[in-house]
Amino acid sequence: MGVVKLRVAICGGGPGGLAHACALAKYSDISVNIYESAAKFSPFGAGIGIWPRAWNVLCALGLGEDMAKITSVPSTSGTGPFHSSTVLALNTDCPSVPQSILVHSFSFRKSDQSNGFTFGNMYSRGPLLTFHRAQFQEVLLQHLPPSCRIHHSKRLKSYSQGRHGGPIRLSFEDGTHATCDVLVGADGIKSAVRNCLLQEYAEVSRDNGQLTGEQKISPRKEYVSWAGSIAYRALIPVERLMEDCDKGLLVLPTTPTMYIGTDVHMIVYPVSKGKVVNLVLFQFQPESQGIPYHGPWSKEVDESEIFNVARFDSWEPEVKRWLKYVRKPTKWAIHMVVDLPTFISGHAVLIGDAAHSCSPHQGTGAGQAIEDAYFLAELLGDPRTTLNTLTQALKVYDKFRRPWTQETGAKAMANCRYFTLHYDDFDFVHADAATVTQKLHDLTDLMIDEWKWCWTTTVEDSLKLALSQLQDICMPDSEAM
Ligand SMILES: Cc1cc2nc3c(=O)[nH]c(=O)nc-3n(C[C@H](O)[C@H](O)[C@H](O)COP(=O)(O)OP(=O)(O)OC[C@H]3O[C@@H](n4cnc5c(N)ncnc54)[C@H](O)[C@@H]3O)c2cc1C
Repeated sequence: MGVVKLRVAICGGGPGGLAHACALAKYSDISVNIYESAAKFSPFGAGIGIWPRAWNVLCALGLGEDMAKITSVPSTSGTGPFHSSTVLALNTDCPSVPQSILVHSFSFRKSDQSNGFTFGNMYSRGPLLTFHRAQFQEVLLQHLPPSCRIHHSKRLKSYSQGRHGGPIRLSFEDGTHATCDVLVGADGIKSAVRNCLLQEYAEVSRDNGQLTGEQKISPRKEYVSWAGSIAYRALIPVERLMEDCDKGLLVLPTTPTMYIGTDVHMIVYPVSKGKVVNLVLFQFQPESQGIPYHGPWSKEVDESEIFNVARFDSWEPEVKRWLKYVRKPTKWAIHMVVDLPTFISGHAVLIGDAAHSCSPHQGTGAGQAIEDAYFLAELLGDPRTTLNTLTQALKVYDKFRRPWTQETGAKAMANCRYFTLHYDDFDFVHADAATVTQKLHDLTDLMIDEWKWCWTTTVEDSLKLALSQLQDICMPDSEAM
């Protein structure tokens, strides 16, 4: 490494932190250290889906080919096997993707009745690419720059920085310290970076006589809240399903399928190139949204617990058949970060779940973390960004990424309601069949309309705009915070 213009410390080695390190790989004048609290990388969770918008970012980072080797997607017809050429062809601007790769990306079924039926199908320009989390993480790790140093068992406690610039001092739980020029908080929903950053923001706001910031973030707990949703996640090896499949009792999904009922829904899709099925069962209690959740946010539970989530005896038989294959699911209380007043303070910046954790109902949380990671790296790597103009570059990041991610988070929460039949105050239980069907069709149109940003927009478009603004404002910092 030659002359180093910036020393970046990434706190957290999840999808956001690792993608950020990969995105900085091409900038030889930026040194990267990752501080991860866990003793080793071990992804907690099951499957993960990536839409074309985030997929294009992974391709821009040079990860497309390796990721394509481990993904499971339907062919363009939605019924055949995976074609890697189709996937790789997605690395173009979405609007220019030919109509021929319009794919069947989701089926929606009304399932809380014995005769369930498919009421909607979603077609997208490019599929939802699905992955086993461990394999997804492995590819990110393989693409880390050789110069990137990873420090395990380093749980950040706090950081401090001067009001007018200078290095940031990191303090870890084990009593050790480190310094950097830019601190990237990629430490997830319980972010320690965010705690410090918002505290700083409050103090600066107070000192500047602007109380809004301080009012918005106090007390601390208020910026993370329970979405009122619980998820049970499991991976099922396909070989265990073969007996039911051979008898025609179960059909392996080639496309993600959503089984929908009042307050409860379930999604199944293939991962590991079709060798494993990812299953997530959700329960939504609208009245619980925003109230404190008592108990661990994620833990392994006994499979018997899932049968108490709904009265599955009255659901279509396929759902119960899937559930009987679940072993040792993990239970997640879905929490969200409420709209923060800032993602930056001085030379500290938040990305991914630390900044905007949202409900997983559009399958975009990791995708948004990857987008942040890339967007921020492009701003930091730009030759106009130096120690003197760093604050301005971070302001551009905040200006573009904060409204965008907060808006997509609201769309994800809307899907949480729609998937559990909370729509338009309509009574899906007592209405007649024809009206229910019409309402479900309206609901499908609405969901697709609010979801299509995942394949009709690109990160590159907003990045171009951001880089042009960097041009306008990149004067040496007048003040660091
Ligand atoms: C049920 C469910 C399904 C989902 N499905 C999808 C999907 O299909 N598609 C999708 O895009 N997203 C999905 N998500 C969301 C996705 O998992 C998250 O948005 C994503 O993991 C966020 O990545 P991150 O790197 O920001 O944070 P995290 O993945 O939370 O990583 C944070 C890292 O920081 C480390 N850390 C934490 N605290 C500290 C500290 N103090 N010091 C140092 N290190 C620390 C942690 O150990 C961890 O490695 C889903 C989420 C859930 C709950």
